Amino acid sequence: MSVAQYKDSFAFNAAVNEFYIDSARKENHTKPAAAMQYSTAGQSRDITLTSPLKSAENSANEEALKKLRDYKINNCTKCGLSKERNLIVFGEGDADSDLMFIGEAPGADEDKTGRPFIGKAGQLLTKIIESINLKREDVYIANIIKCRPPGNRNPEQNEIENCSPFLREQIDIIKPKIICTLGKFSTMFIFNEINNAAAGGDNIEFEKIGSHRGKIYNYKNIKVIPTFHPSYLLRNPSAKKDVWEDMKLIRVLLSEYI
Ligand code: SF4
Repeated sequence: MSVAQYKDSFAFNAAVNEFYIDSARKENHTKPAAAMQYSTAGQSRDITLTSPLKSAENSANEEALKKLRDYKINNCTKCGLSKERNLIVFGEGDADSDLMFIGEAPGADEDKTGRPFIGKAGQLLTKIIESINLKREDVYIANIIKCRPPGNRNPEQNEIENCSPFLREQIDIIKPKIICTLGKFSTMFIFNEINNAAAGGDNIEFEKIGSHRGKIYNYKNIKVIPTFHPSYLLRNPSAKKDVWEDMKLIRVLLSEYI
């Protein structure tokens, strides 16, 4: 799908009810500072997630991703994770999307199917995406690591170093306007990328997601919004209210590009 239309309103739809209200409506919360800069008052127009210009590139982007998957990643044995994987989880979604979600690594369900974020955490991510009136197929979803770490352990540094060039290529092909990093590892990866590219010695030190969410970072002119990983939300439902604020921020930013 190259162009997705949705109403630019913050009405609580069914997905929001499932994603947010069930666990968070009784809690008081305040808007994060960055989000407060973005008033949503009076916005009710239709917007598209991808610009017509980018849509024209769609088939080229899809073709480039296919080549990356078929010729560079399939059968990859660059790190030890290749030994125990069933399937490589490349990523999926709209190759032309303005919005990309980046997670950490595949889990058991993803390893079996070759699709990212389809287990319990993935189902929650789908609801999160739908909470801002987008469909899962409107965005692109990928992980830093393409093969499942045994027992869902954290990825190791050498695995990140071996696998992250693939993610870099995916980002360069898709050229999203916004990246939402899900959790610690993808946020740390983008911070490292920003720090390595900074000529003036900018150095963003990762503290914890709670310290970075609600803020906007710049990576190659892409706006980066860190937020909690859906797996964390399954264990800590009270954090859903923060992710809801981050999603509203993303939606306002998307509307600015149209
Ligand atoms: S995790 Fe990445 S680098 Fe390691 S084998 Fe899989 S695709 Fe290759």
